[in-house]
Amino acid sequence: MARAAVPGRLNWQVATLATAKVETATAKTLVLDVPDWPGHLAGQHVDVKLTAEDGYSAQRSYSIASAPDGARLELTVQRIADGEVSPYLTEVMEPGDAMALRGPIGYWFVWDPRSTAPVLLVAGGSGVVPLMAMIRAHAAAQSKIPLRLIYSVRTPADAIYADELTQRSVASPLEVTYLYTRAPAASIRAPAAPDPTASAGPIRHRSSRINADIVAEAAWPPDTKPAVFICGPSGFVESASDLLVAAGHDPAQVKTERFGPTS
Ligand SMILES: Cc1cc2nc3c(=O)[nH]c(=O)nc-3n(C[C@H](O)[C@H](O)[C@H](O)COP(=O)(O)OP(=O)(O)OC[C@H]3O[C@@H](n4cnc5c(N)ncnc54)[C@H](O)[C@@H]3O)c2cc1C
Repeated sequence: MARAAVPGRLNWQVATLATAKVETATAKTLVLDVPDWPGHLAGQHVDVKLTAEDGYSAQRSYSIASAPDGARLELTVQRIADGEVSPYLTEVMEPGDAMALRGPIGYWFVWDPRSTAPVLLVAGGSGVVPLMAMIRAHAAAQSKIPLRLIYSVRTPADAIYADELTQRSVASPLEVTYLYTRAPAASIRAPAAPDPTASAGPIRHRSSRINADIVAEAAWPPDTKPAVFICGPSGFVESASDLLVAAGHDPAQVKTERFGPTS
């Protein structure tokens, strides 16, 4: 799949839904057959276009979830209740249905498996999708570079890819810190607040929004010069990037991607 992945003129292609996987109550992964896919890099996205019988069309961007070496293209879509496109993709499309797609798009928000810096991934909600492509690319490359993921969701049930993240944290140098913004402390399986005396494990659970204490606990220290990727709703991305830069991270190493309105 990674055979080309170089900038060029993008044409619309027909993608066919092979299968769909339920991730959470509101998110689904669409597994697509895309003949003649030119290959992609971890972190890139595609444009999807839906066209009604009367000719009206709507277009949205979706990050690629699958690693570059996959045989099929995977997109994970979070349904927005009053949305135009995401309810169709998650609730109406059935295997065999087709849609127009073009890509891959974006050469800035990408992780190169040959890089040697530790990696810090910071996700809000469905912003985890391109970061999961990076985690999968890391595994496919059998990279030994350490990864840390800070993943903010409303409740544990909203966490996409939770089982896979647990498995990958056992099999590879991946540490995950979940932040639950709407879960009462008693409902999660772990300490409710950052505990500086707790030993660092591969998976931590905190009932908190992202803040300076979380950054101090769960991010790499700035002097390790990590490559930082932040993705999610605009407000979350602004907060996370401001906190990391205030903590001493080099703004040039902090790459961001915004998915939509503020959370
Ligand atoms: C580069 C890029 C990559 C993206 N990757 C993904 C992805 O991997 N998975 C994914 O689920 N989405 C992703 N998005 C967001 C996606 O493009 C759509 O914005 C989203 O699916 C909503 O589209 P819609 O047509 O259903 O809602 P719309 O009809 O566009 O909006 C309906 C209502 O929801 C609000 N809204 C729109 N988008 C969001 C949002 N993201 N969060 C909260 N409220 C919103 C709008 O303000 C409006 O009130 C990405 C966006 C960008 C720019």
